[in-house]
Amino acid sequence: MLITELKNTDGIKSLLQGKTFILVCHGCKEIRFPEHEADALIQELVETGNVTGTLTTDYICNVENLKLRLQKHAAAIEAAEYILVLSCGVGVQTVADLYETKKVIPGCDTYALPGFQGVTPLEYDCKQCGECYLNLTGGICPITACSKSLVNGQCGGAKNGKCEVDPNMECGWERIQKRLAQIGRLDVLRSPVQVRNYATDEEVSK
Ligand code: SF4
Ligand code: SF4
Repeated sequence: MLITELKNTDGIKSLLQGKTFILVCHGCKEIRFPEHEADALIQELVETGNVTGTLTTDYICNVENLKLRLQKHAAAIEAAEYILVLSCGVGVQTVADLYETKKVIPGCDTYALPGFQGVTPLEYDCKQCGECYLNLTGGICPITACSKSLVNGQCGGAKNGKCEVDPNMECGWERIQKRLAQIGRLDVLRSPVQVRNYATDEEVSK
């Protein structure tokens, strides 16, 4: 099971600086989705006149299914600079890979919840880290695409684009840099991400 929660809506709005297409996943039973908050945000964004189109669909992590659903929205997506994705981290990564030249913005954070996780074979991985970084990394997850789950840039050990821990995989941070260059957002690398406190409440109170 996992939980998706809407990110701070002012934060989301501040990231959308141009025409936007909104994609919502009402996908799977393993996910709790903040439906009413999402509807309110979409309504607000539509009223700005900056939304080129919206699509609510299911299983956006299934790329072939998603491509079919998006066919009739091609013009609206083409007209948008941003794609706001309201889904878990896997859905956002799927969309970011499909639209490499668009600025794909995650509207939700994904949290883990113990229990059944679903059995869909997925191309992308989300460790449900609780605060989705994908708007800072061009839609490539630094937690799962980097062997060390680094969030502030690469370790420096990559050789010829391959990870020093696993030479069979591409260095996640080199992929992130290439993607950010592609969408003209290398500037985000100049702002280090806020350090998280991973300690439990119990540890903090000691
Ligand atoms: S940063 Fe990665 S692990 Fe964290 S919520 Fe986003 S996709 Fe999932
Ligand atoms: S080489 Fe790249 S992917 Fe591998 S641990 Fe270092 S930064 Fe992460």
